[in-house]
Amino acid sequence: MAKQCLECGEAIIGRIDKKFCNDYCRNAYNNKVNKDSKNLIRNINNRLRKNYRILESLNPNEKSKATRNQLIAKGFDFNYITSIYTTKSGTIYYFVYDQGYLPLENDYYALVKRNS
Ligand SMILES: [Zn+2]
Repeated sequence: MAKQCLECGEAIIGRIDKKFCNDYCRNAYNNKVNKDSKNLIRNINNRLRKNYRILESLNPNEKSKATRNQLIAKGFDFNYITSIYTTKSGTIYYFVYDQGYLPLENDYYALVKRNS
């Protein structure tokens, strides 16, 4: 059975390990794959940037508090963070770059800025 080009689906003539019928198809295919991953990266970067701006706006100085509803109302997405910091006593801070939050009781969050 003839192999098919990954880009255009035409039967491939020639070497058994060929994946594309020509350079045009190979380039077109690879560009699409790269574009998809770049879109993914751009979307995640946008989410992180938005989360960062929200934390920054609620925490203009070094420390403050916010409720879960305040964060969500501004569009904060708890799925997007850049790092986690666990203190020696086991307290876990979630960071978006240098802006962090710590879940407290009753849906409150402590907002902190990490000193660089
Ligand atoms: Zn092709």
